Amino acid sequence: MEDSFYFADKTWPELEEAVKRNSLIILPIGTIEEHGKHLPVSTDSVIVNEIAKGAAEKLKGEIPTLVLPTLWTGYSAKEMTHWPGTIRVNPLVLIQLIHDILASLIEMGFRKIIILDGHGHHKGIIEVALRQIGDEYGVFPASVSPAGLSAELYRKIRMSQIGGSIHGGEWETSLMLHFKQKVKKEEFTAEDIMRYHSEFVPGDNFAPGKGVFWSTWGIQKSETGIYGDPTKASEETGKLLYEEIVQKLCQFIKEFYFYEPKG
Ligand SMILES: [Zn+2]
Repeated sequence: MEDSFYFADKTWPELEEAVKRNSLIILPIGTIEEHGKHLPVSTDSVIVNEIAKGAAEKLKGEIPTLVLPTLWTGYSAKEMTHWPGTIRVNPLVLIQLIHDILASLIEMGFRKIIILDGHGHHKGIIEVALRQIGDEYGVFPASVSPAGLSAELYRKIRMSQIGGSIHGGEWETSLMLHFKQKVKKEEFTAEDIMRYHSEFVPGDNFAPGKGVFWSTWGIQKSETGIYGDPTKASEETGKLLYEEIVQKLCQFIKEFYFYEPKG
């Protein structure tokens, strides 16, 4: 327990010490949401939790790091309630919730905070909370997307075609295989691969788009609760993705932690 990197394991005097050492805080944000017939509803939360753990281990001895419990409450589009398992928090409440968690940390004295964003619907929500925090406290936490960190590598190693990695597809399923989580291979199906692609809408989380946001859930109906192709997922791909994400995350964390604004 002594050298645990989990924020919640600490006593208040230990956290007071952590503030004095200017410890970095990682806040993983996932959700509880259906992920098709083959993945558990915890998928987004598991992925960010594992990555936060991996980064904290790798940073040991270089940057004092504390990992907060993964925030599992999230917002998902109503379309996803066609299948049981999705818990939906009003996005305005979620902005306030994330804001208040960050404000609490800043009022304790923490200054370097990284959010790990594991859920596609949260990008705008997190960014609004970060804008508000910056305005109010002059402290600027950063939000990092594991999907974004691994995009360059994934484009080279993916086995699925474009449309195979949006929700419950090759990317997420491979990571869950690597993490030895419950993955029901007998339920793999490619029937809900994303078939809509245009110059403006890439139809995949890892294909270049042209600056348009248009919800996948409003473009094509899903029968199984996913958009993607888990049949192409593998533990090997998951391992490579995990290592890339942790390595790139630590690289950014060092840039973020040691940077002091000029002038
Ligand atoms: Zn997901």
